Amino acid sequence: MASYFDEHNCEPLGDGEQPNHLLHLARLLIDGGYAREWDMEFESISGGNRAPPASKEVVKSLPVVNVTEEEATDKMNCPICLAEYKAGDETRKMPCGHRFHPTCILPWLERTNSCPVCRQEVPTDNPDYEEFKKQKARQKQREFEIEALHDSMYG
Ligand SMILES: [Zn+2]
Ligand SMILES: [Zn+2]
Repeated sequence: MASYFDEHNCEPLGDGEQPNHLLHLARLLIDGGYAREWDMEFESISGGNRAPPASKEVVKSLPVVNVTEEEATDKMNCPICLAEYKAGDETRKMPCGHRFHPTCILPWLERTNSCPVCRQEVPTDNPDYEEFKKQKARQKQREFEIEALHDSMYG
């Protein structure tokens, strides 16, 4: 019976030589594995923990909304620092409608791109992440279409 080394057409290891499986593994990781690792990284980004910061342009364009007397009387507060707003306080309004002190939300958006209350995402300046999100959306769309097709055929 042929040995492993004959089958794989390589020389038996000499004294002190290391098997080249590690080298093989490294190549696999670089050629094939890296893409998967990249995916997993974005997977965790989409979970909200390691998302890129919000787009600077988007942050700059968040509308400034002043707290009204009524809102102050209603004890409306900032969801980040939990302090009640006073009438006339400046807040920044996210696209989802949630409002925060600028001193609370701006540092947050320098670290991540989602609303701390409802997790709705705002655009980022990271083209890879934006592309990733587009692909995810397309994938969701396809899943939805397949489901709709399935429903129309069997529903
Ligand atoms: Zn605050
Ligand atoms: Zn929100």
